[in-house]
Amino acid sequence: MKEEFKNEMKLEFVSKSANEAFARITVAAFASQLDPSLEELADIKTAVSEAVTNCIVHGYDKSQGIVKIVAKLKENEIFIEISDKGKGIENVDAAKEPLYTTKPNLERSGMGFTIMESFMDKLEVQSIVGLGTKVTMSKKIKPKQDTEDDFEMTATTVTNS
Ligand code: ATP
Ligand code: MG
Repeated sequence: MKEEFKNEMKLEFVSKSANEAFARITVAAFASQLDPSLEELADIKTAVSEAVTNCIVHGYDKSQGIVKIVAKLKENEIFIEISDKGKGIENVDAAKEPLYTTKPNLERSGMGFTIMESFMDKLEVQSIVGLGTKVTMSKKIKPKQDTEDDFEMTATTVTNS
């Protein structure tokens, strides 16, 4: 039997904004197995944060439901699915446009999808009105450079100080 994914996790939580930090930290902890840089990790956290906030704020709005995250690691790449069974999006292409928001009066700037798109390598949004929304994102973690130069610089700094 072929094993397609190297590692996989699932996380489900109620749509309370208090769980947004929990979700982003959990996915970051899982992603750290790929040895990402601090910047790559920050990108993943921000993208997860935006997607989860959307499920809570837009998907479920004033009601409460379950937000589900599935994260998979394959070689040097992380795949993250974030979904809700909330109200759905009528026009996904319009929703993905920068500055598009249906809640302009609630500190929303309409930049969530744009941020996800720029911080991750790929973003796919599937949504059915009345059934919910699923965002799938992926990011390749770059192999680390040989840090010999860095060590040399550190050694010089230490000697001089
Ligand atoms: P910001 O993310 O900058 O605070 P925003 O959430 O309005 O503002 P986006 O994250 O880009 O901006 O989302 C654009 C629009 O897509 C939202 O205003 C909302 O109408 C719709 N949307 C996004 N995610 C969902 C979701 N999970 N369920 C229902 N509608 C959504
Ligand atoms: Mg948003």
